[in-house]
Amino acid sequence: MYKILLVDDVISNIKILSKGLPKDLYTVFFALNGKKALELVIQEQPDLILLDIMMPEMDGYEVCKRLKQDPDSRNIPVIFVTAKDSPYDEAYGLKIGAVDYISKPINLLVLNARVLTHLKLKEKEQQLRLLSMHDGLTGIANRRYMDKWLKQSWQLSKRAQKKISLIMIDIDFFKQYNDHYGHLAGDDCLKQVAESLSQNITRSSDLIARYGGEEFACILSATEQTGAEKMAHKLRQNIEELNIPHLASRIADHITISLGVACLCPRQISSEHKLIELADNALYLAKHQGRNRIVCSSDN
Ligand code: GH3
Ligand code: MG
Ligand code: MG
Repeated sequence: MYKILLVDDVISNIKILSKGLPKDLYTVFFALNGKKALELVIQEQPDLILLDIMMPEMDGYEVCKRLKQDPDSRNIPVIFVTAKDSPYDEAYGLKIGAVDYISKPINLLVLNARVLTHLKLKEKEQQLRLLSMHDGLTGIANRRYMDKWLKQSWQLSKRAQKKISLIMIDIDFFKQYNDHYGHLAGDDCLKQVAESLSQNITRSSDLIARYGGEEFACILSATEQTGAEKMAHKLRQNIEELNIPHLASRIADHITISLGVACLCPRQISSEHKLIELADNALYLAKHQGRNRIVCSSDN
């Protein structure tokens, strides 16, 4: 069932529209003015909005502009349904973010076809957005999403004058794992490791991502060095406890990981790249000191 919000100051128009939308496909809500419409959008998160333009107090253009300014409602398709039929009005409606523009009198067949088209388009767009953010193999956040997340977290931490931590994680002797057990088993191992790492994330401000190959990253916002070290110990231990056999490893008979921890206060440093560099260097040391261990960057 899709949720449709109808906005029109004339109740008879609302009645015509809601009668014309099949009940087995749509749950319909309505608002008789712009203010109520904006409230209902927050409450109900509709999949699509049919919006009148000429309304007292706040007109449809203004409602649309406000919806498009707010990240929570920006992606909800808006179709203007209006008596204003000049090309200038239509062009303006589309310019401020509506996906479509239907002039009254309404032909319900055409309206239904357009509503369905835009709902399908929105679904495709959502699927694409999810795909572009997630790693295809493990399903966790991918590198692109991580870069974006880190940039944002860095700015937020800077404003809040809080520290931010990063843990870089790398599976030990994973090339040998692939050579010994085959690539499909390697893929399966990566999935299990990603799943285990993700289970430790409980705060919405933290993120686990696949950094690339057999490397993962954990971003901990508003987290001091000691908190990050604790998390690193938990991650390492949980991977050992998975007890995935790795007879080709030179340090254990099961899969292990090495971790590099870094923590910085963004107020003093210009870019988040420094945090990656520090965590990377610490990870490099963890590898050289024998693997299956945590090294914390001292440069902070
Ligand atoms: P170290 O302990 O120093 O980290 O050694 P390593 O063998 O883990 O590191 P190396 O960088 O030499 O090898 C990484 C391996 O990870 C090689 C590559 O084939 C494998 N790998 C990367 N991505 C994937 C993947 O998606 N699936 C599988 N099966 N293997 C992958
Ligand atoms: Mg490795
Ligand atoms: Mg590696």
